[in-house]
Amino acid sequence: MTEILILGAGYTGMGAAMGLAGRLKRREDVRITLVNPQTRFTERLRLHQAASGEELADLQIPDRLAGSGVDFVQGWVTSIHADAKTVRIDDEYELRYDALVYALGSVADTESVPGVDEFAYTLDSAHEAETLAAQLDRLGNATVVVAGGGLTGVESAAEIAEQHPDADVILLSRDEPGSMMGAKARARLHAGLARLGVHVRAGADIVKVMADGVALADGEVVAAQAVLWTTGVRVSPLAATAGLQVDGRGRIITDESLRSVSHPNVYAIGDAAAIRQSYGVMHGTCQSGIPTSMHAAASIVRELKGKQPKPFRFGYVHQPVSLGRHDAVIQFTHADDTPARFYLAGRLAAAYKETVSSSPWTTYRLIRAMPSIGSMTWRRGAGTTS
Ligand SMILES: Cc1cc2nc3c(=O)[nH]c(=O)nc-3n(C[C@H](O)[C@H](O)[C@H](O)COP(=O)(O)OP(=O)(O)OC[C@H]3O[C@@H](n4cnc5c(N)ncnc54)[C@H](O)[C@@H]3O)c2cc1C
Repeated sequence: MTEILILGAGYTGMGAAMGLAGRLKRREDVRITLVNPQTRFTERLRLHQAASGEELADLQIPDRLAGSGVDFVQGWVTSIHADAKTVRIDDEYELRYDALVYALGSVADTESVPGVDEFAYTLDSAHEAETLAAQLDRLGNATVVVAGGGLTGVESAAEIAEQHPDADVILLSRDEPGSMMGAKARARLHAGLARLGVHVRAGADIVKVMADGVALADGEVVAAQAVLWTTGVRVSPLAATAGLQVDGRGRIITDESLRSVSHPNVYAIGDAAAIRQSYGVMHGTCQSGIPTSMHAAASIVRELKGKQPKPFRFGYVHQPVSLGRHDAVIQFTHADDTPARFYLAGRLAAAYKETVSSSPWTTYRLIRAMPSIGSMTWRRGAGTTS
């Protein structure tokens, strides 16, 4: 029996499971196992909605895998023994693998500033988002600091301001929010935030989080009853501890086919992988992560057939950012994620963003039914199949 083990059932782990299930339907000599701590799928793309009080769908992973031939194991990966090709679960038992798909994603970086772990909320799980939502309900007209002006910070500040119009929402950021967008889309993003009453303060360097606010590098204290931390992400130390070659941020360095450069029987995908393209190392998004999962599935199947995996090519398409439930800005991009001329805003953009957020599950159904689309190379302007 050939054992394929997938670690993490987030957006990319699910994509790899569905891609492999579709392709290996008739192979009784291959077992696919998916490991995740929770049975409920975390819709990370919607956690800012959950933090503002919206109830998310209860997507149960075992239900979604039913009939696919993929075994589900509920548990935490506590260590990986790359040389023995085993993974330890809950520090209790081991699973063996011939091919490993490492899809453990990332979490909010709470270690770089003191006080974050103790006093700030994060958007790492539905439970944490729901805890913040309950606190915002209790607080009423509170001051809420959202730390970090990336897309997650912007979406969160907008959503909280819309759902809690009595709250004073302050978006604190080192860089100008929307700095990766073109000038027109960025101006539209700021207009949308202003309309919702979000106070944007760029150039703010937070050095400490306290029970009653945050301290800035220039000595100012911004008082707040709740702080949401979205300044960046970090990855699990498991790969580095296992001796896999990682980059400065702990992400597994891959070859052009997404295999670990130090351990080629390990495929690394999604936020946990450092994948180089012609324009540089990709940054973690669902947009790029799901194609990596499909490519890994197709490559493992090629290797099972004695063929070489193909190189992975990817180009970005858009930077979608919601501004509450009825507004959004979609900056269309060049393949390297720099802004193109066109952007979309308003209700049409909000509908576009909603389609993006619900698209992973449609994609999984599609690749399970038609696995050949999983071997597409995602080179912009040349979507070729192999
Ligand atoms: C609020 C918010 C909005 C976002 N919006 C967008 C967007 O609009 N577009 C976009 O492209 N991207 C967006 N992103 C980024 C996107 O969510 C991530 O890039 C994507 O989730 C990465 O997928 P992944 O599979 O690598 O990791 P994840 O989806 O995080 O999945 C990782 C999985 O691994 C599991 N895991 C972790 N450690 C262990 C362990 N030790 N043992 C077992 N299992 C473990 C986790 O529980 C999880 O299920 C957003 C992120 C946030 C927080």
